Amino acid sequence: MKIPANFAFSQNNLQDYVDCPRRFELRYLEKLAWPAIRSEPILAVERHMQLGERFHRMIQQNQSGLPADLIGATASEPELIEWWQAYLSSAPDPLPERRLVEHTLAAPFGSYRLVAKYDLLAITPGERALIVDWKTSLRKPKRQILSSRIQTRLYPFLLTEAGKSLNNGIAFKPEQIELIYWFTADPRNPEHFPYSSNQYEEDRSYLQNLIADAVNASDTNFPLTGDERMCRYCNFRSLCDRGEGAGEMETDSLAEESSESSGYDLDFEQISEIAF
Ligand code: SF4
Repeated sequence: MKIPANFAFSQNNLQDYVDCPRRFELRYLEKLAWPAIRSEPILAVERHMQLGERFHRMIQQNQSGLPADLIGATASEPELIEWWQAYLSSAPDPLPERRLVEHTLAAPFGSYRLVAKYDLLAITPGERALIVDWKTSLRKPKRQILSSRIQTRLYPFLLTEAGKSLNNGIAFKPEQIELIYWFTADPRNPEHFPYSSNQYEEDRSYLQNLIADAVNASDTNFPLTGDERMCRYCNFRSLCDRGEGAGEMETDSLAEESSESSGYDLDFEQISEIAF
């Protein structure tokens, strides 16, 4: 199926393309609603995902100026309380004063567009811009896995391309930008990715090639992934004849190992788009 003109490429749909071209086609081009399998691991994933969404909203309120004690009083689930305490004691600090939460940036890119929604941008105009992303995955992924994720490339790249309006009309230099991943699973050890001009050029080329590859696939076909571990939590398993059941989220150690070795972090924000 053809990619429409002016299609907006995001970290979610590009990561899907990298993980499985067919999933990209089913979700973003065909927009196929395929029912999720209601097995216990999936329900556990969904619960975790919903808590993750609430946690993001709590941080959003706090970064927008609402007092922490008022926000904290709304949490009753043990995980949420624990995450909130971790955020209060270990969130990256100090951050530049100007805060933009859930902020979306977009820019033309060839015949298409790039788009990103940032959990938090903390900016000192003329000096620096920090991108903070809150992660609620069960485990903190290894740094090399994080560095290979589309998000790690796209977010700073797009801020460089489209952040002028946040910096008194002057584009940020890549060296003024840093991406920080903060983890509920390891709150005292966030991962920092300072950006650079070299990385910016590398990311431009990577994204151009990746999108060209997707366009080429849309002229021929979008293959199913060769790595069936990617199918574990995918809604389309029955459609693709890749099994009916899901793996155990916490007890299946193979799932954790294979997801790490394949570079696939079980990302609940990603799964939220899979679950209809
Ligand atoms: S089930 Fe597997 S092959 Fe099918 S779309 Fe999902 S990840 Fe791709």
